[in-house]
Amino acid sequence: MSTAVIIVAAGRGSRAGGEIPKQWQRLAGRRVIDRTIGALALPGLGPVVVVLHPDDMALLPPRVGLMTVAGGATRSDSVRAGLEALVPHAPARVLIHDAARPLVTPALVGRVIAALDTAQAAAPAVAVTDALWRGAGGIVTGTEDRAGLYRAQTPQGFRFDAILAAHRAHRGEAADDVEVARAAGWPVAIVAGDEDNLKITLPGDFARAERILGAALDIRIGNGFDVHRFGPGGSVWLCGVEIPHSHGLVGHSDADVGMHALTDAIYGALAEGDIGRHFPPSDPQWKGAASEIFLAHAAALARERGFAITHCDVTLICEAPKIGPHAGAMRAELARIIGIDAGRVSVKATTSEELGFTGRREGIAAMATATLVQA
Ligand code: MG
Repeated sequence: MSTAVIIVAAGRGSRAGGEIPKQWQRLAGRRVIDRTIGALALPGLGPVVVVLHPDDMALLPPRVGLMTVAGGATRSDSVRAGLEALVPHAPARVLIHDAARPLVTPALVGRVIAALDTAQAAAPAVAVTDALWRGAGGIVTGTEDRAGLYRAQTPQGFRFDAILAAHRAHRGEAADDVEVARAAGWPVAIVAGDEDNLKITLPGDFARAERILGAALDIRIGNGFDVHRFGPGGSVWLCGVEIPHSHGLVGHSDADVGMHALTDAIYGALAEGDIGRHFPPSDPQWKGAASEIFLAHAAALARERGFAITHCDVTLICEAPKIGPHAGAMRAELARIIGIDAGRVSVKATTSEELGFTGRREGIAAMATATLVQA
C-alpha cells in the first residue's frame, strides 16, 4: 500500500528566534527542512509534498519524488493544499508531518504506519509524566491531574481518501490533523511517540536538537579495492596524475586504479554499490572516460545525502613506477575533485616484495578507505 508524505513548512513562527523562520535555519550545519525531508526519505514512502509559504517557493526546488506547493493562510489551508496535490497520485495512506520535527526516526514512522493497518487514523504521542500546575504571576495557583494526558507529535497518519474528505468538509482552524479527523467522527489510535522527536519551537530547542544529533552521530568508513593489468603504452594514470612508465594500464576507462578504489570506498560508505553500478562498463559512453567523473559523482552523492568526506587514504601496490615523487600532486588532485582540503587526503605506496602479480609487474593494485560524517 502506498504511503505519501506531506511536510508542512508554510509557517512563519517567530518564537524560535533568528532572522528567518525556523524551518530555514541551520541545525548542526544543515537546514532544518532538509533534515526533516531526509528523515522521511524512507523505503516505501512517497511521493513527498512539502507545503511552503508562497514567498519561500524558490528556497526548495522540486526534484524527483519531491513536490512543493504553496500553502494557505492557516495550517489547515496548507495541509489541504498538500492533500489536493496528492489527489492525482491516489495514495492509500498519508503521513502529515511538521517541518519543525527533523529528528523523527524510522522506528516511530514504522509504528504509525503499522497502526494504520487496523486504524483509519494513528498519531504518536508521549504520556505526560511531569506534574501539571496552573500558575499566575510566577506563583503556583493550582495543580492539574495529568492522568490520561498526552503530548501530541507528528507524523500523524491517515487513510488518504478519508482525511481528504475530512479536510474538505472541515470549517475553521484546527491545531492538527487529528482534530480534523476527530471532527469527522473517527477514532484516532495513539502510538508511542519519542521524547527526541522534538518540535523546534523556542531558541533553546536548537541546542537540544544538536545534542540529540551529536549522540546519534553517523560516522561511516568505506573501503575499496581495484586492480588493473599492464598493457602497451608509455604512461599510467594514478590518482589523477599521469606518470611516464614503460607500460600503460588496461581498462575500460582511463584505468586509474587508485581513483577507482577511492571512488568505491565512498560508494561503500554510502552503501551505494560500486562504480560498475553507476557507470556500467557495458555503456560505451564511459569508454576511455577520465575517472574524475566517477570520483566527482561519488563525492556529490555523499554531499546530497548530507555527508562530509572527512578523510581518504589510498595505498597503491606496485614495484614500479615510483609513487613517492608524485604523491603530493595526487593528493592535491584527489582533494580538488572531492572538494576537500588536501590535508584530509593521503596517498601512499608499497611494493609486494616481488611476490604475486604486482611483484611480477603484471599490474597495479590499489586499496582505499574513506571516512564520511553526517554533516
Ligand atoms: Mg577499475
